[in-house]
Amino acid sequence: MHLRTKAATRTAAVLLTTTLAAALLGAAPAWSAPGAAQPRAQVEVFAEDGGISRTTAPTVSPYLAAPAPGLTAPGGDGDVTPLVRNGDTASKLDVVVIGDGYAAQEQEKFRSDAAEKWREITAVEPYATYRGLFNVWAVSAVSPESGVSGDPDRATVRHTALGSYFWCDGVERLLCVDEKAVERYAAKAPQADLVIVVANSTKYGGAGYNDVKSALGYEGIATVAGGNARSGQIAVHETGHSLGKLADEYAYDGQGAYQGEEPAEANISTLTADRMRDQGVKWSRWLGKASPDGGTVGTYEGGGYYPTGLYRPTENSIMRSLGREFNLPGREAMIAGFYRHATPLTSPTPAGTWLTPADRLTVDLPVPGTLLHWYLDGREQPQLRGRTALDLGALHLTGPRSRPHLVSAVATDPTPAVADPALRPELTGSLSWLLTR
Ligand SMILES: [Zn+2]
Repeated sequence: MHLRTKAATRTAAVLLTTTLAAALLGAAPAWSAPGAAQPRAQVEVFAEDGGISRTTAPTVSPYLAAPAPGLTAPGGDGDVTPLVRNGDTASKLDVVVIGDGYAAQEQEKFRSDAAEKWREITAVEPYATYRGLFNVWAVSAVSPESGVSGDPDRATVRHTALGSYFWCDGVERLLCVDEKAVERYAAKAPQADLVIVVANSTKYGGAGYNDVKSALGYEGIATVAGGNARSGQIAVHETGHSLGKLADEYAYDGQGAYQGEEPAEANISTLTADRMRDQGVKWSRWLGKASPDGGTVGTYEGGGYYPTGLYRPTENSIMRSLGREFNLPGREAMIAGFYRHATPLTSPTPAGTWLTPADRLTVDLPVPGTLLHWYLDGREQPQLRGRTALDLGALHLTGPRSRPHLVSAVATDPTPAVADPALRPELTGSLSWLLTR
């Protein structure tokens, strides 16, 4: 079921992008008017004090290096290294980390910076608990120069594989990138559900591109400085959008009062706590509970860019400021998002394999605390609960010898961090095999 969901999403994304590309190609004139507007994307800027704001930025970088042919040897351009490999791409959430501004002799440094970024990300819950659901692929992009544009100062220009640059759109901490170049390199990984660009820089900065619709299936790009210990938070916030489908919980002065319909996102609402509780919607199940980001869950006015008319669940979660935790509704949405790409149960023996009583069957439960139940021809075998290795000879088979039997394993993550019954089915996975005597 997870497989199908993942493939269907990918197909839909491919179709959408193909349609868009065709529409754009059809509409584009054969010439470019002088000073014609470059395509722009919605991006987020992250200030050093943790504050977040939004702007738009060009999707094309002026600092893209010309392709360097011949750099395809091991350790060269486009090489893919698994930093974390927990399983096959169909059953895991695949994170692709691409380096920029790393010269040929700095690719080892890139991999080390990428691994450090993943450590920063997985220090934050729910990543810490759910790290077994992820693969992480490091894609080497060899840049002719070391470092990126705008570091240390605005006048510094370096042409790099992905064209990363600080001072994007005149904002020092905004680290932009060339979206098409990112996609070309991301395509080299076996699968890309999430893309992080690590720039060879110690300067604080980054960007969150959260309206990306790549043909590869990823929906956001986070750019971070590889050598800056606080920039991993940028990627965590960005995945709040791409994986958790969460709204921003910050607001702008002067934006006025929100007048629209109830927003779709799980973490902002037009409803006050009383009305939310009465209607049993949004984060009503979490109201009054202590939240990991501090304080209790309630309805705090301001969020979704509006200072009034919209409410957020807690005072200050990571969807409002960097350096924070997800709040309870955010954590729930993230876990559900992880499971939309990854399954709670895998096995080295492919489902559907024909087995005999001489065989041994093993399964893996990537998330701590996952419950496991075994079924023989649909009947639960309570003595096998929680067993991840099974000698099939121990099963008591009845009926005619010629009749095949069905062995099934069902794994469920019972985490109390997911309270919405509509999300619970995502937390269960099952596999079945055939058994003959
Ligand atoms: Zn955001």
